[in-house]
Amino acid sequence: MRVQEPLNLHDQLPALPTPESFCTDATLTKHMVPAAHGFAFSVKKGDRFRVVDLHGEQVVDFMAWVHGKPSTWLEKMSTAYTRYHLSGIQPAIGECLWTNADRPILRVTADTVKVHDMTFMSCFPQLYEKKGLRGHRSCAQNIFEAMQEFGMENILEIAEPFNIFQNTPNYSLKRLGSSKPGDYLEFEALQDVVCAVSSCPYDLDGFNGGKITDVAVVVAQKKASTT
Ligand SMILES: [Zn+2]
Repeated sequence: MRVQEPLNLHDQLPALPTPESFCTDATLTKHMVPAAHGFAFSVKKGDRFRVVDLHGEQVVDFMAWVHGKPSTWLEKMSTAYTRYHLSGIQPAIGECLWTNADRPILRVTADTVKVHDMTFMSCFPQLYEKKGLRGHRSCAQNIFEAMQEFGMENILEIAEPFNIFQNTPNYSLKRLGSSKPGDYLEFEALQDVVCAVSSCPYDLDGFNGGKITDVAVVVAQKKASTT
């Protein structure tokens, strides 16, 4: 008896775009994300965007949800599902982030750093309160605040983060960041997606280069086809 081959969803993906095509036939929009704050944005299937570390060594927590109508925030990027599909411990160029419904949601199309984290949670208000820092900003709060624009009502609706530029191999928290000024990670949206980022406010123990800094999100929105 012949055993049926498992469905390989990678085979259904379109060809990988080249880095040079980031600006081709697209409208570029640059969003500045202030240090220690969050930002949420939506992209359409086929759009691409870059998360840019402007000053170096700044971790950026990243989350993504499938933009359904009405928005429910039920289907979201899942680090556990993503790790299941990866060849290594973090997505390589051409590999995807996957949702908790086992569907690819975003694909990594360029990466100038290649050191990121998919194991740790976002920093959250109680983490700082336990250190005597009540009112300290946190990635969880930043992303919840930014997502309120899209109708999110409860901080527990946030997802587990893909911690871009975070250098934590083998679950060890390292002091030094991995990114230099201008480094970026680029994604292609495989569905209509709402994304959120946070310039991580964790300013203790030398993390984030010891100084929390602005980051940027640059969206390349596909121009409507005229044909
Ligand atoms: Zn954080």
